[in-house]
Formats: sequence, structure tokens, C-alpha cells
Amino acid sequence: LSKTANTDSLTQVYNRHRFDDILTTEIKRYKRRKYSALSLMMIDIDHFKQLNDRYGHLAGDTALREIASMLKEEMRGTDTVARFGGEEFVVVMPATDLAGAAHKAEALRRKTETMEFPGADTPIHMTVSIGVATYASGSPSGLISAADQALYRAKQSGRNKVVVSGPESGIYKTTDAGK
Ligand code: GH3
Ligand code: MG
Ligand code: MG
Repeated sequence: LSKTANTDSLTQVYNRHRFDDILTTEIKRYKRRKYSALSLMMIDIDHFKQLNDRYGHLAGDTALREIASMLKEEMRGTDTVARFGGEEFVVVMPATDLAGAAHKAEALRRKTETMEFPGADTPIHMTVSIGVATYASGSPSGLISAADQALYRAKQSGRNKVVVSGPESGIYKTTDAGK
């Protein structure tokens, strides 16, 4: 019962409800100095609506499942992957600073570029935009919103990018597509 209540049924990663609990807990642990840093990334599939429109919702669902399982595979056991909304995922990364989280986000962005998703006769390629933020102080929603704002800037500046937001310097890294 508890697994059903905590898991997104399509992708089998944690759902939004469980993510909220985990983020709150991890912030408390960070404050008790259990580890030196706590970062969050928000990942949004680029132009996902087009994939649904062209290849159908079942192809869209398959792509969501494959992205989710790639994320689980690529992240550390101590990280938490969750489905935040429709085609958006979040990853909570304890003991990971902003630079480490940005590096990981960039690896995920590149990995996604190499994936092939089943479509019609030829495989489909997709890209993701990622916003990264690290916890300084305040509420869980403040951290989510920092990552979300970074994600928004990634979208605005052309998609298939990682944008990092941090207390020290705002955006300090933008990775262009294809490099
Ligand atoms: P952007 O690059 O700006 O993120 O564009 P987008 O098309 O990815 O974003 P938009 O928010 O316009 O569309 C998101 C789409 O995700 C629309 C919605 O139908 C689709 N979606 C949400 N949840 C699911 C799902 O569970 N399955 C499928 N197949 N599609 C979903
Ligand atoms: Mg979205
Ligand atoms: Mg999208």
C-alpha cells in the first residue's frame, strides 16, 4: 500500500507527494550538518507535446518511462528521483554542491541526447532542459522555485541546456546544445 501511495504509477519513480516529504527531511538533515551540501535539479523534456501529437500518447508514455529509468540508473543510491508533474522530473542530491550537481545535470543532458525512443518507423530523439539549485536557507519551496527559475532560463535560452542558479552568482553556467 505504501509503495502505491509513494510511487508514480506510470514511471515507477517517487511521486510528487513523496518528493515533498523527502525534500523536507533532507533539508532537516542538512541543517543538522549531516552533510555539507544539498542540491536539487528540475528536469523538463523539451517539446514533449510535439512527441505526443506526432506519435501518440502511448509513445509519449514510453518515453517518460525510459527517461525515468535512465535517471534512476544514472543517479546515486542516496539521490531521490521523482516525477514532479507531467513531463517534469526532480532529483534531490544530498552531499552534492552546486558544481557537482551542475556536472551531473550536464551528463544527464548529454545522455538524453544519445537515447533513442520508439516512435513510428525511425527512432525518436529527445532533449531535456535542466535547472539546478543548491540549498542555502529557507523553505523547501524556495529551493524548488530556484531550480524552476533556472529551468525557465534554460528554456528561454534555447532548450537542451543546463542552467545553474546559486546564492553566490545566479546563472554561472549555460551549456549549449551539441557541444
Ligand atoms: P517545452 O519545451 O516548453 O517544455 O514544451 P513541452 O511541449 O514539453 O511542454 P508543454 O507543457 O507545452 O507540454 C507538456 C506535454 O506533456 C503536454 C501533455 O499532454 C504531456 N503530458 C503530460 N503528462 C503526460 C503523460 O503522462 N503521458 C503523456 N504521453 N504525455 C503527458
Ligand atoms: Mg513542463
Ligand atoms: Mg516540456
